[in-house]
Order: sequence, then C-alpha cells, then structure tokens
Amino acid sequence: MVKNAFFQEINGNFGFGCMRLPMNGDEVDFDQFNQMIDKFIASGLNYFDTAHGYINGKSELAIAKCLSGRYDRSKFLLADKLTDVFFNKQEDIRPFFMNQLEWCGVEYFDFYLMHAQNKDNYKKFKACQAYETAYELKKEGYIKHLGLSFHDSADVLDMILTEHQEVEFVQIQFNYVDYEDASVQSRKVYDVCVKHNKPVVVMEPVKGGSLVNLPQDADAIFREMGDMSNASYALRFAASFPQMTMVLSGMSTMEQMEDNLSFMADFKPLDENEMGAVAKVTGIFKNLNLIPCTGCRYCVEENHCPKNIRIPDLFSAKNAHEAFHDWNAGMYHDIVCQDNGKASDCIKCGKCEHVCPQHLPIRDLLVTVAETFE
Ligand code: SF4
Ligand code: SF4
Repeated sequence: MVKNAFFQEINGNFGFGCMRLPMNGDEVDFDQFNQMIDKFIASGLNYFDTAHGYINGKSELAIAKCLSGRYDRSKFLLADKLTDVFFNKQEDIRPFFMNQLEWCGVEYFDFYLMHAQNKDNYKKFKACQAYETAYELKKEGYIKHLGLSFHDSADVLDMILTEHQEVEFVQIQFNYVDYEDASVQSRKVYDVCVKHNKPVVVMEPVKGGSLVNLPQDADAIFREMGDMSNASYALRFAASFPQMTMVLSGMSTMEQMEDNLSFMADFKPLDENEMGAVAKVTGIFKNLNLIPCTGCRYCVEENHCPKNIRIPDLFSAKNAHEAFHDWNAGMYHDIVCQDNGKASDCIKCGKCEHVCPQHLPIRDLLVTVAETFE
C-alpha cells in the first residue's frame, strides 16, 4: 500500500465501514458499537466511514453517540458522503451538509465523498454544481479531503476524474470476484485511479458477505491452506494492490471485528500460493451465476419500493438456493414475504433499479425469484 501526503494521518490501512452496524431489532446496539469502537481505536486504527442513507440516517446518529460523543476529535478520522437522493438543486447541498455535521456531532469531516457516482447521477451532481459546492466547503475548512465513491465502468471514472482534478481520492468496489467482472470492472476502474494518481479506498472487499459464506467446494480450498478465515483472503487480496490506501470492512459483530483485526492490524499481502487459492475460488464462484447483490439495501430504504418487497433478502434466498442447495432457502423466502411484498407483487415501476449501485436488472431478477419459490 502507498500513502500520498494527503493520507499520512490515517493509521494503518483498515477502516471501519458503518453501513452494517450491530443492531437490536431496528435500532443500533449502542453498547456493542461502543465496545467495537473501543477495540478498533485501541488497536491503533482511526478511520470511520458513514453516509446519511446508511441504516436510514441511524449510522450518522450512532457515530455522534458512540464515537464523537466519547472520543476527542483528534483520535478519529471521519468520512461522510453526499448522496443524490438528498438534494435537488445546488441550494439544498449546504444545509444538508451542515445537518450531516450536526447528526455526526462533529465540526468538520476529514473526508467527504460525492456518493456512488455513475453516468446517470453524475449529470445531477454536475447540474447542481455539487463538486463546486463541496470544494467551497473544503476551502472554508469543513472538509479536509474531497473524494468520490464510484459504481460504473472505467471510462466513466476516467471522464469524471478528467473533469474534476480537484478530487483527491476514489472509493471503489474491489474484490477478487469483481476483479475481472465485465460490469463492475474492478481492475479497469483501479487502473484509471492509478492513471490519475489517486489513492484508492476499497469498499465491498467481501462482496456484501458473499465471500465469507462460500459454497462448500470453494470453502474447502481455503480450509486446505490453514485456519485463516475466508474474510481474511478477501480483505488481504484487496489490500495487496500498491495504490490501495484503505480497505473498509462493514463489521456488525465483535467476532467479525476481532477476526478482521487479527490479519489487518499487522497486514501482510497475499503470497503467490494464497493468490493461487483465490484464483481457484474465483473460478468456482463465477460458475455459480449468482445474483451479484451486495446487500447495501439502498433499494429498500427511503421507501423506494411501493410494494415493500425486501429485494436483497429475496436475492439472498435465491443465491442460497443456487449456491448451497440450501434446503432452508424456501422457508427463509416465506418468512421474508410474511409481512412484505413477494417477488410477483412487483409492479415494475423501476424505482429500485434507479438507486441500485450494482445496476442490477431487479425487475427481471424478481421474475426468476418468483419462478423458483412461488
Ligand atoms: S420495480 Fe418492483 S421491486 Fe422495484 S421498486 Fe418497483 S415494485 Fe418494488
Ligand atoms: S438490489 Fe442493488 S440496491 Fe438493492 S441491496 Fe442489492 S445491490 Fe443494493
């Protein structure tokens, strides 16, 4: 990993992604979050990442209660984001940003990102002068470093970075399954960051958990290598590339945090043998043809689905059915649908597809879910 001058203040190369926090029902489990934060900071690490959409605004509020409310500001670095659904014109951006500072209980953000940039929403960011507004906030000291997070093809990133050279870093989806994937294009997107000399922050290193719960034959390959967890191969794969500055992990239990810290607090890149095992697992995974949903839940939060269809949970049931021949998948599907819409209730309005960072054809995929389970 390399660090340019902007990132000297980050300790280590491992960040706490606050999209999937420990929960008690619908509320963040503050006690457990406190303990996880304490453990993380005691391990010498300091990078936290949130966004207003995470857990319907509860992630930012939990940051205020458990992090900024309990630690001196010099002890942590905080990244937050501007998401397209929270503004419609340039004048909306500054008040929303000021609210974000208040929700998080801080007076500045160390890192602020134009969120989930793609060809479509970039037009809105441009029309509303979002980059220019964020740059003004930076000049006023409310933002230390300006970046973007990205979900589209490499040529779109190349265009944005050419038009906005003031962007200091880029957050990308990067994991061993998406590395050569034709739609996610992790490798090509990473190469564009190298071309523009931008430090890279990695999101989705375990592909929303898919690379932790591996199918049996893939799991067996890592078990033969020793007792390191499946997550360890995924995170270390992403962190092994020289332009990577930070790998984010969305941890929701202390157990996950302890496992992640066991190999990231004192990081070593994958060796040749381990890279070989990762290549074999990638081959098995690709043959399964799973739905590449990362479980980010953007499509179900903020009332995106008028039929209240729990899209990622249905996709998860479908993947469990295909990958693990899970006898429970049908029962899990029925539980998900108990108080919510089922796949065949979809009225094909397309609202979910508009916000899906993976650009999934959700309406068509729901047809296959209905065929499998209903
Ligand atoms: S297309 Fe279907 S699943 Fe998507 S938001 Fe509309 S009703 Fe819900
Ligand atoms: S379908 Fe798309 S938006 Fe919904 S959880 Fe999956 S990846 Fe996220």
